[in-house]
Amino acid sequence: MKLSLTKWPKGADAASIFMIDDLANIYFEAPGGDWGAKGLQEDGLYQFLKEEILKKYPYVRFTFFLVTGRREVQVQGVYDHVDSCEKSDFARYLRWLENCGHEIAYHGLTHGEVAVKKFVQEWDTYISQEAADSKVRTGVALYNAALDHQPMGGKYCGYAEGKFGHRSVLNNGFRWWFDRWDDDVAVRPSGEWVDGILYMPSNIDCSQYPICMLGRVPILKYLKSIVANFRSGSVFEKIDKLVSSRGIVALQEHTSPLRTDGKRQYPNVVDDINSISAILSYLSKYNIWYATASDVYLYSLFRKNAVVEEDIKNNQLFVLVDEDVANLLCKRNISVSLKVNTKNYIAPCGNVSEVYESGGCYYQDVTAKLLNRPLNLISDT
Ligand SMILES: [Zn+2]
Repeated sequence: MKLSLTKWPKGADAASIFMIDDLANIYFEAPGGDWGAKGLQEDGLYQFLKEEILKKYPYVRFTFFLVTGRREVQVQGVYDHVDSCEKSDFARYLRWLENCGHEIAYHGLTHGEVAVKKFVQEWDTYISQEAADSKVRTGVALYNAALDHQPMGGKYCGYAEGKFGHRSVLNNGFRWWFDRWDDDVAVRPSGEWVDGILYMPSNIDCSQYPICMLGRVPILKYLKSIVANFRSGSVFEKIDKLVSSRGIVALQEHTSPLRTDGKRQYPNVVDDINSISAILSYLSKYNIWYATASDVYLYSLFRKNAVVEEDIKNNQLFVLVDEDVANLLCKRNISVSLKVNTKNYIAPCGNVSEVYESGGCYYQDVTAKLLNRPLNLISDT
């Protein structure tokens, strides 16, 4: 009997994380101007996501990257409303998003500073390790005040790590992080572990316009995107490559198109909605595990640490994993999957699913609660 842990739950071809950057307690009064502060109002960001994405793709889980303090302006201009994240209405909204199954990740205290008419990204402004660590601590404290727990991961602002990025991530107890843009999806399709941190890949820019988009977006934007596509390979080819290596398809977006300097934020969910729809529709031909970044991290951690021991003589299987890892998985209610080689597989324990088939292979799901003790599985062969 040959059993193995599947790369992703339920034998999925790949995992997908939908990243929305720059969630903040900010709005502009103009249409599409909500960065998050409007909460569940009719003209708010979430209403848009619900109508335009979740209605058709209800399984999508967003990972929002939150700027926790009062966000700096984009060189000039003003927001119609800006505040830090722990203010009661906004904090309530953040907790509501979490309860809906989305994730709030960390994305800086101010996102950066304006220095002589130039915007400097937050991690590039740090002049020492101490300064970096203490700024991140301040930002995380605001997160904690709003959500009553620590963020598990986050992302550098503008993917700029600065000189002290990695240590600041490590010193502040983060477990996963998005550190850079991955132009070549073949380099680290499932991310990489550095000092116990899972650095995840950022690889799919949702602002892409294949031929089916012609006429649906401004022609200049369309042409620019086609040039970018030629340079880095079509988005669908990238997705195919990621799926064939059972990697992480990380979709990149921002909240509102509106900024204080009058320019359009690139990319953003409002301008890219048709492109997003085309990408999600393309992904639906595969068996994708739609998950938050923390879920992907926890499953990756589990696979990295779990030891599968087979006792062929007694027909027993042991999935052994560190108790801390098992507890983390339990909290998020993630089940893990085993690949089994027969559909005539009988598990004596009620906490495992029926054996099911997917793509010619047989799988069985096991709830995380079982992981800190041996699991007995009996086969009839
Ligand atoms: Zn950002």
